[in-house]
Amino acid sequence: MVYGYFNKIMRIDLNNGNISYESHDEEYFKTFMGGSTLGAKILYDEVPKDSDPFDDSNKVIFATGPFQGTGIPGSAKWSIIAKSPLTSTLGDSAAGGKFGPNFKGCGIDALIVEGKSPKPVYIWITEEKVEIRDAEEIWGKDLYETVDLVREETNEKASIAAIGPAGELKVRYASVGIDKHSYAGRAGVGAIMGSKNLKAVAVMGKKKPEFYDEQKLKEIKTQITKALAKDERGHDLKRCGTPGGFATYNGLDNTPKKYWDGCCWSKEGEALEAAMYNDVLKVKPQPCLYCPLACHMHVSVHDEKYDIEGAGPEYETLAMLGANVLVNDLKAVAGAHDLCNKYGIDVISTGAVIGFAMEAFEKGWIDESDTDGLKLEWANPDLMLDMIHLIGKRQGIGDRLAEGTYFFSKSLGKEEYSVQVRGLDSPGHDPRLCYSLAVNYATGTRGACHYRGCPEETEIGDFLLPEFGIDKPTEYFELEGKTNLALVHQDFGAIMGSAVLCAFMFVEGEASITAYLNALNAATGWNWEVEDLVKSGERMYTFQRILNIRDGKGPEFDTMPMKFSKPAPDGFRKGKFPPFETMIKECYELRGWDDKGYVTEDKIKELNLENFV
Ligand code: SF4
Repeated sequence: MVYGYFNKIMRIDLNNGNISYESHDEEYFKTFMGGSTLGAKILYDEVPKDSDPFDDSNKVIFATGPFQGTGIPGSAKWSIIAKSPLTSTLGDSAAGGKFGPNFKGCGIDALIVEGKSPKPVYIWITEEKVEIRDAEEIWGKDLYETVDLVREETNEKASIAAIGPAGELKVRYASVGIDKHSYAGRAGVGAIMGSKNLKAVAVMGKKKPEFYDEQKLKEIKTQITKALAKDERGHDLKRCGTPGGFATYNGLDNTPKKYWDGCCWSKEGEALEAAMYNDVLKVKPQPCLYCPLACHMHVSVHDEKYDIEGAGPEYETLAMLGANVLVNDLKAVAGAHDLCNKYGIDVISTGAVIGFAMEAFEKGWIDESDTDGLKLEWANPDLMLDMIHLIGKRQGIGDRLAEGTYFFSKSLGKEEYSVQVRGLDSPGHDPRLCYSLAVNYATGTRGACHYRGCPEETEIGDFLLPEFGIDKPTEYFELEGKTNLALVHQDFGAIMGSAVLCAFMFVEGEASITAYLNALNAATGWNWEVEDLVKSGERMYTFQRILNIRDGKGPEFDTMPMKFSKPAPDGFRKGKFPPFETMIKECYELRGWDDKGYVTEDKIKELNLENFV
């Protein structure tokens, strides 16, 4: 018996419409848990190491974990995994809304989609049936229209994970949108759905797996829900979500300015801060299912220029499509976010590639002959919006920008100026402020990422991990403990991505990591202690690293983008940058890898992975 799971992985071959099911022993689920690491295991076993991500041999994996079905706060999440068209290795992204519980509610833990359909299709899964349906009428529609049309054809209560036109056109950073609400933005998994002619997956189900101790699980769920509902941070998030952090981050120069070349934008950035956000964008909280925190914001802007009704910009949008391109017009940033959501593209990579293109234009690497006469100037909201349209449609310069910052910069011979690791653009957090990010980005298994490891949250003073030995805040610009901080967060991030849980959930006491561990034990009967959880995090992170190495994206890609070694001339982080060489050496030592960054046989044995690699 595998408690907490259905022990049922569905496989759909789009070449011929075959549907089959697989199961595994409990050890498999204890080792890979679910979500991103389960997906990594499937990529490791089934997707050839040298294959192009757009080859039909790539797979798209929809995966839940042991928490989906429990109704615990944070468990609305689910993961989508494929070989990434940006990094050619593990591409995984998570989203919320209500898709995770509805997906598992159909009686499955994961879905592997393989092959390529000869024509556009969507998949409709309920507790009773699975259908592959024609999507030719829906192909070409934006993400909002797609959700409406698929719901009309299926059920108005269905949860829809879909791609927009950008995914169809294989924009390398295409996202997957859920119910016009939440987005799996990173790593370009939407482009892989598009390459398979898969427009959407619709799910609706309420089944629950058998839990080891249902009564105890219920009690812990109530305890956690109550604790989060009265937590002060929750009230802050409900007021205006992650944008609430913009003023602090921007004041500390944690946000990018002028594609990471600028600093000191506090005065200009005031127009993007929380007070303005709420007032200008008319926000209301839009929580994921079961969430008492509600960081997602619904915004309404209707005037002569904008007609926006939907998910509002997150902190990352304000950073990457605001400060990064020197745009401080909040309505324009909300408009940019809305366009990214409708075309189905990642706001971080979109902001990055637009910023890089503006720098390329300024420095003369491209000119108006490359842009059909467009002047790619900084601080131009209308231009930014036009560029998103061009990217989403792959028109004009947008076709080249749709390849992403790394490939576009390489086509100009200027890849050293691109701010990415393994091909994934850096999010809006600067390692010159939070030194731990240098190692976190360099050895991130999906590339430069602030979420599969969020040590910046500890550096900024918002988030401790006492169960993992991180029980006090750190000092900016002090090296002591910063590498270790990154590694602990990476291991914790591997758990969050595999469990699959929202990382905003944890507060000391009744909603602590220990409380969630108790819930995991009640769901699965694994009876883990904190040490087992910590080891599991290291094991799953390490497995993902092994996949990176197998895919040819190993230690030679453990780099820090050149711009992060250029200190700011002024402001809070004046003159500072992380000593990357020292940190990466320390990282390999602390990890117990060899001095070149390869995972050793001893480490593989220590983590009980020898039967899986
Ligand atoms: S905190 Fe935000 S992302 Fe996390 S579950 Fe709640 S609404 Fe969803």
